[in-house]
Amino acid sequence: MTIERISPLEALRRHEAGAVLVDVREPHEHANGHATAALCIARSQLEAAPQAALPDRTAQVILICELGGRSLQAGEVLAAAGYAHLASVDGGFARWAAEGLPTARPDPVDPSPDADFHQRYSRHLRLPEVGEAGQRKLQSARVAMVGAGGLGSPAAFYLAAAGVGTLVLADDDVVDRSNLQRQILHTDARIGMSKVASARVALLALNPQVQVELLEERITADNVERLIGSANVVLDGADNFPVRYLLNDACVKLGKPLVYGAVHRFEGQLSVFDAGRQRGIAPCYRCLFPQPPPPEAAPNCSESGVLGVLPGVIGLLQATEAVKLVLGIGEPLSGRLLHFDALGLRFRETRLSADPDCAVCAPGRAFPGYADYQRFCAG
Ligand SMILES: [Zn+2]
Repeated sequence: MTIERISPLEALRRHEAGAVLVDVREPHEHANGHATAALCIARSQLEAAPQAALPDRTAQVILICELGGRSLQAGEVLAAAGYAHLASVDGGFARWAAEGLPTARPDPVDPSPDADFHQRYSRHLRLPEVGEAGQRKLQSARVAMVGAGGLGSPAAFYLAAAGVGTLVLADDDVVDRSNLQRQILHTDARIGMSKVASARVALLALNPQVQVELLEERITADNVERLIGSANVVLDGADNFPVRYLLNDACVKLGKPLVYGAVHRFEGQLSVFDAGRQRGIAPCYRCLFPQPPPPEAAPNCSESGVLGVLPGVIGLLQATEAVKLVLGIGEPLSGRLLHFDALGLRFRETRLSADPDCAVCAPGRAFPGYADYQRFCAG
């Protein structure tokens, strides 16, 4: 069937006489306007389910796109689907507008922060366990993360999406091509950029309402308290033992919940260490491993392989725990160590108890000072 080609003026005349006018362009093409009273149904959507948009196959249907090509093609699809009266606007919306025919613009997106809040977090606001009060808690929360890498990527993405008001990211590394197999905050175009700067680009693109603070430094005893001092929750996405022990000790000292995650080859681990706030009840990382392993036995100190999706799983579980901790809902993974085996797709859990003789978190014990393990690790 040949689709009738008509001028914009003829289309307007027929539309006023009762024909249905359908703009088949993509939504982003409507920014400069569309023909007044046209139904805006993207071509792919129209072709996939014409009956949903146009239930009457005997109606007069006029299709319009930007220049007149796509509307003709969409007409052929509709003709094959049994539509009897089809026309396409020659020259499309470009000619329609050039001829001065009436146009309308899509409603501008409401830019007010309050409207953004209610639209962006509507699926949270519908959960009674979160609601407006919970979302405001997330908005005023501060989560510190060490590592903008494999674990930090999914965690930071989802925490930003969830509306955690301030993310503090610490990493002194730059983006390398070998990171991109799992560190989804970064892109090929940002190879060579500092990881924290690259992370900020990605996070602000997702949610411009979030504050992203950067610490482009290696975490040491001198700056660890600056990093976590005002945080509500701390995420460990470190890839080395010295930083892991520093974070643990600082979190015990300052009373911060620490969401620990680690990955190696096909396996991951996760726990929440909350000994700083629950002395003698909740364990810390040192209750589990009092001292770092020797360098030759420390897989994270060397470049060992990891299945790219694995840090995605563990990092997202860390983000889940962080959100729960901020909201104060559910049962945190405190006192439990979760093991994940990707090859068998199995989770299992080990109970952890606080070590009454722990060098750092034993009740009544004075803080022993930060240990410097840097020299034991080859990096
Ligand atoms: Zn301990």
